[in-house]
Amino acid sequence: MNPGPARIPHHHQGVLSYCKEFGVPLQVIVNENRACYFHDDSAFNGKPMLNRRVVNDSRGYIAELLAKAIGQNALEQQVSAEDKERILVMLRSFGYLNADLRYTGSSRAGYAEPPGAGLKSGETYPPIHFSELLKSDFWQYKLNYSEGYDQAATMLEPVGGMDRIAKAFEQRVGHLITYNAEVRQIRKTSSGVRLVYANKTSGEETVLDASFAICTIPLSVFNTLDTDFSPDYKAAIIIGAEFYVPALKHGFQARRRFWEEDYQIYGGISWTTRDITQIWYPAAGFHQPTGIILGAYIWDNEICHRIAAMPIAQRLQTAVKEGEAIHPGYGDELYLDRGVSVAWGKIPYSLGGWINWEKEARETAYGILNAGDGPIYLAGEHMSYLTGWQEGAILSAHDTVRKVSTKLQAMRV
Ligand SMILES: Cc1cc2nc3c(=O)[nH]c(=O)nc-3n(C[C@H](O)[C@H](O)[C@H](O)COP(=O)(O)OP(=O)(O)OC[C@H]3O[C@@H](n4cnc5c(N)ncnc54)[C@H](O)[C@@H]3O)c2cc1C
Repeated sequence: MNPGPARIPHHHQGVLSYCKEFGVPLQVIVNENRACYFHDDSAFNGKPMLNRRVVNDSRGYIAELLAKAIGQNALEQQVSAEDKERILVMLRSFGYLNADLRYTGSSRAGYAEPPGAGLKSGETYPPIHFSELLKSDFWQYKLNYSEGYDQAATMLEPVGGMDRIAKAFEQRVGHLITYNAEVRQIRKTSSGVRLVYANKTSGEETVLDASFAICTIPLSVFNTLDTDFSPDYKAAIIIGAEFYVPALKHGFQARRRFWEEDYQIYGGISWTTRDITQIWYPAAGFHQPTGIILGAYIWDNEICHRIAAMPIAQRLQTAVKEGEAIHPGYGDELYLDRGVSVAWGKIPYSLGGWINWEKEARETAYGILNAGDGPIYLAGEHMSYLTGWQEGAILSAHDTVRKVSTKLQAMRV
C-alpha cells in the first residue's frame, strides 16, 4: 500500500525523468475500471451498481435527449441541416442509440448472463432508469474522474512502491543528507542565513551558516520553527497553513483476492457516498493468493477530521462496515488486525497531505512566498500549481534552484 502518493500521470515528466535516469521500474496503475462499482445509499436501492452500467446508460440517455432536441429543431439556430445529420450519426455511435434514436440498453453496459459457447448468446442488463441514475451522486465528479488531465490513462506507479523513487535519490545523494535532524531555527545574518537543527535522538543542536537556504518544510509545520521572516512573509505562511488537506488512507491485507475471483476486478476504484469514499484495488500481483486493498481514501476535510479523531482500531472497523455495502462479506475477507490507517493531518512534520490554495490566497500570500525572503527561499508542492502532486515539488525545486543560481551569478559579477 502507498499511504501517501500512489500514482504518476504520464505527463509528469519531472518525476518520470528521474525514474528513467535512476532506473526505477514503472508499471501501469489502474484508475478507471468498468468492472468496479458505484455505490450510493440514496440510489439503486442502496445496492452497488456496476461502473459500466452507470457510465454507458448515462451516455445513452444523454445522447437520446440531445437527439430528441435536434429532432424537435430545438437547436435550429445553432446547427446547419448538414451538421444536424452528422450529429445524429455521432450520437447514435456515442450513446448506442437504435435506428429510432432511442436508448434501449447496450452490451457496453455488460451482461446479466454473459455470452458463451453453443446456444448461450448472452443477455444484456436492462438499462437503469434515467431518474435513478440522476438520483445518485455519481455524476458530481466520479463519472468523469478519470477524464481529468491528471487522472487520465496512462497512469503509472513504481514497482515496489512510491518510495523506490526516494530510495533511488538516496543511493545517489544520500551522503549529502543529514538524517534525524529537526530544523528549529531559521534566521537571517549579515552574510546570509543561519540554521539551527537538533539531532532527534540526542537533542544536540548544530548551527549551520550559509549564503542561502532552500526550505522544503510544509507551511503546515512552520509554527514549530523559530524564524525572523519579515512580517508579511510570516503572515503569508500562516495563511497558507490554513489550506492543508488532512487526507486519510486505510489499507488492509486480504485473505484472498476476492475482487479478482468473485468480481473480475483487476485494479481500479469503486466509489461510495459513505465516508471511506473509495475502495482501490491493486494493479499488480494479479492472481497471487493474497493482496493489499486500499480500504479508504478520504480528502473531505470534515470526514477526515471526524475519522482521524477515532482510535485506529475503530477507524478500521468503521471502514470495513462501510465496505460491506460494496462487497457483502468484506469483513470476513480481510485481516482486520493487519489494517493500517494513516491520517496525514496527524503525521508529525507533515500535518496535512497537501495544500489546496484558495483563489484569494493564491493571488496574495502565494506571490509573497514565491518571491522568497532575503536569502531564504521556499520549495515544495505548496510552491507550485501542481499541488498534491510530487511533480509540483520537483518543478518547484528546479525553479528555486534556478532563482538561487541567478542570484549567485549576480553576486559574483
Ligand atoms: C494521501 C496522499 C496521496 C497523494 N497522492 C499523490 C499521488 O498519487 N501522486 C503524486 O504525485 N502525489 C501525491 N501526493 C502528494 C505528494 O505526496 C506531495 O505533493 C509531495 O510529497 C510533496 O513533496 P514536498 O517535498 O513538497 O513535501 P514533503 O514530501 O512533505 O517533504 C517535506 C519534508 O520536510 C520534512 N520536515 C518537516 N519539518 C521539518 C523540520 N522541522 N526539520 C527538518 N525536516 C522537516 C518532512 O519530514 C518531509 O520529509 C499525495 C499525498 C498524500 C498525503
